[in-house]
Amino acid sequence: MTISIERARELLPPELSQTTDEEIQRMLNYVYFVLDFAWNWQEKHPWETFPKRERKIQDPESVFNKERHISNRMPLKATLDQKIKWHIEHIAHCKCRPIPEGIKQEIQKRLG
Ligand SMILES: [Zn+2]
Repeated sequence: MTISIERARELLPPELSQTTDEEIQRMLNYVYFVLDFAWNWQEKHPWETFPKRERKIQDPESVFNKERHISNRMPLKATLDQKIKWHIEHIAHCKCRPIPEGIKQEIQKRLG
């Protein structure tokens, strides 16, 4: 994806109308660099976007539902209720790791 200097100029706010073509090109090069870097990083290190413990997964290809993980992250400071809910929904859609023992025990306790 590239964009022309003319198009980039149209997108600039009015207060930057004095920006030279050379400056616009430098900005565009920077944007391309960042996009390229982000894209390659994601390709080479898909695990980096997930918590470290996810790397214990044995056979990610067959059991890992990436879409599921991207759209359903565990809240940062999850309450026990939120963790239980997350793990139950997770195991229904993705088999990358089992429900942790502690959570399992808590579920069993609540089920009586
Ligand atoms: Zn999973």
